[in-house]
Amino acid sequence: MTKPSIKDEISKLVQLQNIDVKIFALSKEKIECPKILDAIVSEFESKKMMLKSLEDSKQKSILKQKDKEGELAGKEEAVKKAQGQMSLLKTNKEYQAKLTEIEGFKADMSLIEEDILKLMDVIDAAKKEIESEKNNLVNEEKKFNEKKNIYNNRIKEIDGQIVDLTGKRKILTDSVDKMILKQYEHILHGKDGLALVKVKDNSCFGCHMTVPHQVVNEIKMYDRLITCGICARILYLEEDVNL
Ligand SMILES: [Zn+2]
Repeated sequence: MTKPSIKDEISKLVQLQNIDVKIFALSKEKIECPKILDAIVSEFESKKMMLKSLEDSKQKSILKQKDKEGELAGKEEAVKKAQGQMSLLKTNKEYQAKLTEIEGFKADMSLIEEDILKLMDVIDAAKKEIESEKNNLVNEEKKFNEKKNIYNNRIKEIDGQIVDLTGKRKILTDSVDKMILKQYEHILHGKDGLALVKVKDNSCFGCHMTVPHQVVNEIKMYDRLITCGICARILYLEEDVNL
């Protein structure tokens, strides 16, 4: 078995790394998309819930108004009944007492009527607010659907791009030495999709730490793959790579 030219292999790995950087970024974005979609859905749901709670509270006020109207009718009935009893009364004292009773009922009625008027105001205001919220929600739904479409389309686009890049990747990996590819991929998965980095001005482009001269000299020998002593990524010198 002939030993692969390390320089040639590194040139192929540089191309491979360019593809893998894109695949990694796209995969990461693809993971984020459903989370963003969920957030958009729950934002819209909470707006719908707000409208629902406005409608519930309007409904409560309507029921309260009905109760008050029933109460009012009861008092009216009581007044009529008391008035009907007036002709049967024998003494002035009884007559005065009945009059006081009727006045009491009427005072209650005017309080109840005030409550009903207040409730009617509350219901009117609620109706207006609901109307405006409904209009709002129509716009929000439009925006929601637009956002949802953008993200769903982006997910499809990402899938297409990943398929395309994976195809290109396969062609490249077929030409890379198997042992070197294995080492590269091992680092790739452990290092957030970045396995191969250049050294420039004695600095590692993976971890930005200083690469000793001795290590740079070792890279230049191209006898084996040299990795960064700090971040463990494969190192290369840009000027030595033929692309
Ligand atoms: Zn490093």
